[in-house]
Amino acid sequence: MEKKDIDWSSLGFGYVKTDKRYVSDFKNGSWDEGKLTDDDKVVLSECAGVLQYAQTCFEGLKAYTTEQGKIVCFRPDLNAARMSDSAKRLEMPIFPEERFVEAVKEVVKANAAWVPPYGSGATLYIRPYMFGSNPVIGVKPANEYQFRIFTTPVGPYFKGGAKPVTITVSDFDRAAPHGTGHIKAGLNYAMSLHPIVTAHKNGFDENMYLDAATRTKVEETGGANFIFVTKDGTVVTPKSDSILPSITRRSIMYVAEHILGLKTETREVYFDEVKDFAEAGLCGTAAVISPVGKIVYKGGEIAFPAGMNDMGPVTKKLYETLTGIQMGRIEAPEGWICEIC
Ligand SMILES: *Cc1c(COP(=O)(O)O)cnc(C)c1O
Repeated sequence: MEKKDIDWSSLGFGYVKTDKRYVSDFKNGSWDEGKLTDDDKVVLSECAGVLQYAQTCFEGLKAYTTEQGKIVCFRPDLNAARMSDSAKRLEMPIFPEERFVEAVKEVVKANAAWVPPYGSGATLYIRPYMFGSNPVIGVKPANEYQFRIFTTPVGPYFKGGAKPVTITVSDFDRAAPHGTGHIKAGLNYAMSLHPIVTAHKNGFDENMYLDAATRTKVEETGGANFIFVTKDGTVVTPKSDSILPSITRRSIMYVAEHILGLKTETREVYFDEVKDFAEAGLCGTAAVISPVGKIVYKGGEIAFPAGMNDMGPVTKKLYETLTGIQMGRIEAPEGWICEIC
């Protein structure tokens, strides 16, 4: 298969239309058999549930080429399971999890020419999503839905090394207790736009959100979970029912404990103790881990010892181990790597 003629390393994180996408429709209580299509346009009723009441959820994962030249993706079964959880909370039908994984494989295979080569740092980003498609005007769930997956090649997240980010503690809340923070719903991102635009205007890369009830505990950013490292090398991640359960973060905690032999803790993390940590990082599919260099809040700032040029040593080890597993340089735990072709 001939690769597309693209300068992979200069790609950013944007949408590039690829050859094929996957579509399945839910109607009269069941999903159709689904298919690949060339048609990148979605035509909907002006009154579609998604357009009126934001009944939509999504997932995000990547396909890439390993050192051995295989096209793979990372733990797609967990994306499938998380999308089921999102669908349940939004009163949407579940797209069967085995079919989700099969559809991911099918659409990546059909776009294999768009999967960046090993060593380019670029990946094929995969976006599964679902939305209510029939007209809904009274506030209630739609009864017809569309599940789609498109792919788009994206460049290396860090061009020229992982630069630590500066974040600020947001005055806005991300997720209410018993709300929708734990699911990947489009609505969580719609409401985060004003806070992130505000943060950028003020010169920050990201927002740290605190728990909405007490504003004393660390939750996450708009699109990534936190990990912290204590001065004695324990990897700590916040526990809360309103945090989105990041697959990257769960994998990092596993790597820390079972591969690197580090102590790990998943527990409530008070903002007051953040100043005592040695390292901080943001975990998500896009960056794997972005090191946090500085946190600015009302009344002060916290500068982590590794400074604004380097990842802290433990963060770096976690990053290298997880990306090594993903790229086929380090043996993966059972079931983590899903070979596509
Ligand atoms: C998607 C997402 C993450 C990262 O999850 P991964 O599965 O690691 O990509 C973290 N926080 C939020 C709010 C998210 O939407």
